[in-house]
Amino acid sequence: MKNVLGYKCTLCGASLPYDESMTCPHCGEKGILDIVFDYGYIKKEFNRETLAKDRTNSMWRYSALMPLAPRDFSPFLRVGWTPLYPSNSLGEALGIKLFIKDDGINPTASLKDRASGVAVAKAIELGYDTIACSSTGNAASSCAGNAARMGLKTVIFVPQRAPEGKVAQLMIFGAKVVSVMGDYKATFDLSKAAIEKYGWYNRNAGINPILTEGKKTVALEIAEQLNWNVTDWVACSVGDGCTIGGVYNGFHDLYELGMIERIPRILGVQSTGCCPFVVAAEKNEPLKPMEENTLADSIAVGVPRNPVKALRAVSASNGKWIAVSDEDILDTMRVLGRTEGVFGEPAGVTATAGVRAAVKAGIIKPGESVTTISTGSGLKDVKNALRAAGKPTLCEPTLAALDKSGIL
Ligand SMILES: *Cc1c(COP(=O)(O)O)cnc(C)c1O
Ligand SMILES: [Zn+2]
Repeated sequence: MKNVLGYKCTLCGASLPYDESMTCPHCGEKGILDIVFDYGYIKKEFNRETLAKDRTNSMWRYSALMPLAPRDFSPFLRVGWTPLYPSNSLGEALGIKLFIKDDGINPTASLKDRASGVAVAKAIELGYDTIACSSTGNAASSCAGNAARMGLKTVIFVPQRAPEGKVAQLMIFGAKVVSVMGDYKATFDLSKAAIEKYGWYNRNAGINPILTEGKKTVALEIAEQLNWNVTDWVACSVGDGCTIGGVYNGFHDLYELGMIERIPRILGVQSTGCCPFVVAAEKNEPLKPMEENTLADSIAVGVPRNPVKALRAVSASNGKWIAVSDEDILDTMRVLGRTEGVFGEPAGVTATAGVRAAVKAGIIKPGESVTTISTGSGLKDVKNALRAAGKPTLCEPTLAALDKSGIL
């Protein structure tokens, strides 16, 4: 791979060759690796001009910045190139210039497709026939969908509490589903043991460094869609920390390539019911495990698997951490739906709930520009959507009944 120089360990800083290993041999499981790109080489074939001519309407337009061997990506699902909407009303109400990146529009309806697409490409490149993953839901369904399209088998470990919409996707995509009687940590640990035993390709986000590189394409897209004038802030919901790590990596790549002039400040948002990053940042202490007590299931991660990349995203971008309550999340589901027509799942709208809270707290200043990422579709979790918005009133099929019903 001419565009990759090697690995660098996020813990001990060791430089390592780029091979099949997923963690640092010196640091073990916690030694999450960064992929080091050869920007000098990449610059020659990838820049604003080449992109302006490229008509690939998917994240594969950024394959020069992916740790993959060159190949034809057209047989894959169309992942990415999701809309970036300038807000019509919510931004004005908040006194900021707001953009909404709707990643619920991906093929399996979440941002996780970006990581899964790259993982499937890598699994095929390395000659695997089965790919495995543990997930709170979206990583699983995206893995199953992207793999199904390319003829790979999938074994998926989900915690028993995963919402039905996501489980339904798994079943339709033909995955072998292990519904684990335990929390996310128990699910992750079982998947890890099984992957070691059976030798499948490992799509576990905390461990596999290429997944961050797939997720970073959301930042590459945001920058390109903003015509390389990035917003002051980019807000992102955080569970394991891979997404926010990827967001930072994407902007960092573009900065190193001279394609943007600054890296946006990154706002990391969690639910108060499960916010180990926010607590650690407030107390300036190492991460401590926390209960998974939030209805935003996709970010209910008590023991985040990618702490170093997540913490770096916020500190290196001079960003902020903030927590929002589940009530704020449900309220933001309604507000985003009603004011912008964007329907996100609870974790999907958490970033926007964080933007609202950060404006209130004076962290985001009036007039600043902000991109908020909606990471997953509201149809993933219909139960909580109805909880947020209520159920419709029944009406007998007559005009008289309609007039009396109070619906209009
Ligand atoms: C996975 C996920 C997140 C958080 O991503 P992490 O990499 O776990 O931090 C946020 N929103 C949605 C919808 C997700 O599926
Ligand atoms: Zn190390």
